Amino acid sequence: MATKLWKEILGELEPTVSGPYFNAMLKPTTLQEEAPGQYSVMVPKPYHKQWVEKEVLPKIKKLLEDRDIKVEMLRVVVRKTPETEIDDLPLLSASEPESGEETAAEAPDNPFNGKYTLESFIVGNNNRLAFAAAQAVADRPGEAYNPLFIYGGVGLGKTHLMQAIGNHILRQNPKKKVVFTSCETFTSEFIEALQNKTINEFKRKYRSIDVFLVDDIQFLANKEGTQEEFFHTFNTLHQANRQIVVTADRMPREIKDLEERLTSRFGWGLVADIQSPNFETRVAILQAKAAEMSLDVDPKVIEYIATNVSTNVRELEGSLITLATTAKIEAEPLTLALAERLLKEHRSEVDKSLSTKKILHMAAAHFGVEIGDILGRKRQKELVYPRQVVMYLLRELMHQSYPQIGEALGGKDHTTIMHGVEKIERLMREQTTIENDVKDIIAKLKS
Ligand code: ADP
Ligand code: MG
Repeated sequence: MATKLWKEILGELEPTVSGPYFNAMLKPTTLQEEAPGQYSVMVPKPYHKQWVEKEVLPKIKKLLEDRDIKVEMLRVVVRKTPETEIDDLPLLSASEPESGEETAAEAPDNPFNGKYTLESFIVGNNNRLAFAAAQAVADRPGEAYNPLFIYGGVGLGKTHLMQAIGNHILRQNPKKKVVFTSCETFTSEFIEALQNKTINEFKRKYRSIDVFLVDDIQFLANKEGTQEEFFHTFNTLHQANRQIVVTADRMPREIKDLEERLTSRFGWGLVADIQSPNFETRVAILQAKAAEMSLDVDPKVIEYIATNVSTNVRELEGSLITLATTAKIEAEPLTLALAERLLKEHRSEVDKSLSTKKILHMAAAHFGVEIGDILGRKRQKELVYPRQVVMYLLRELMHQSYPQIGEALGGKDHTTIMHGVEKIERLMREQTTIENDVKDIIAKLKS
């Protein structure tokens, strides 16, 4: 009965709430009738609760009463997921009684950042598979997917997910040996061990662990000796059913100069990608981050940031923090106008090292074409594609408007630019070669 009623109420609320908020905040809710006249709106996360209470709770009450329903109690409750239920249980078998008040996540020998948990990770269509896989691996290390390979662009949450896996496993069983390492650390420890003739200890250390988390494996390219050692470590652990999780900025076979025997092993388990979040997910992430930082941010400002900062989550988070702290320092409320001004200033800072010219130059060099041809109007495929990549880069990196880009590229119409940018966005999702072209140029621009 509550389901049908709730559907009706949501139907009436929808036109009163802006679209993205409806999708992000209200769609995932349900209504529970606890006892006659006692209702709970069940929501997935604390930031939903905050938003629902602040924005729509009185409206919901009224809509119920409009239907002649007597409302004695109406509250918002964060739904317990199976995972938090597990976390709420006392750790009986695994943990030592001495752990006292301190939770494992804060214990000194937990090397993981307590901020990066599965609970604080916002799930959208862009990362659903990677999240589900991380959850499975965290619950049943060595049993679900082994190895788990997560890939995606910069700042999209790969390290967050990996740390969350480590956090979760240690919380459930603090005795597990969980090693989180970057390729740089692994490489330098390996080289050091060679120099100090402590290679046996090195091998012992890495081959006796329960969970091996290796971040940014692409940096293993070109390091043959380390790859060899990594290969043996991988085999030893995998044969013993120890969990291995690897992240990279691209899928295994796209990583240049990585041995075939390694890339093929990375495909043994599950390969999951993380894409850029869409608008609704960006709004949800910003809401969650604001709540995490106990910031009360005007929904209009959130929407503004979500519209204008699209590249990655780190940038989204960074923009929100910049805006909030500057507003605080300047002792001004964080209004839309202030947000617009600050974000513009912030951007011109970020982009100082970049210029249209530099992007044109890099792209031309990458594709082996002349800058003049990119600026020109010839319609050959070999020229149209690099031209559209430049449009995309100017939009993505310099945040230029379509007319601005049209101007910069020799007086092209803004609809041509819009079409070009959208085409590259789509092709990047569909074809990794195109995604890699873009990534390679960005990497060169930032190096
Ligand atoms: P990557 O390793 O892919 O470059 P990170 O894991 O370092 O990216 O993420 C960058 C920042 O964005 C971190 O602060 C992280 O917490 C945050 N972040 C990324 N994705 C999400 C998400 N889906 N939900 C919440 N925070 C996220
Ligand atoms: Mg990372």
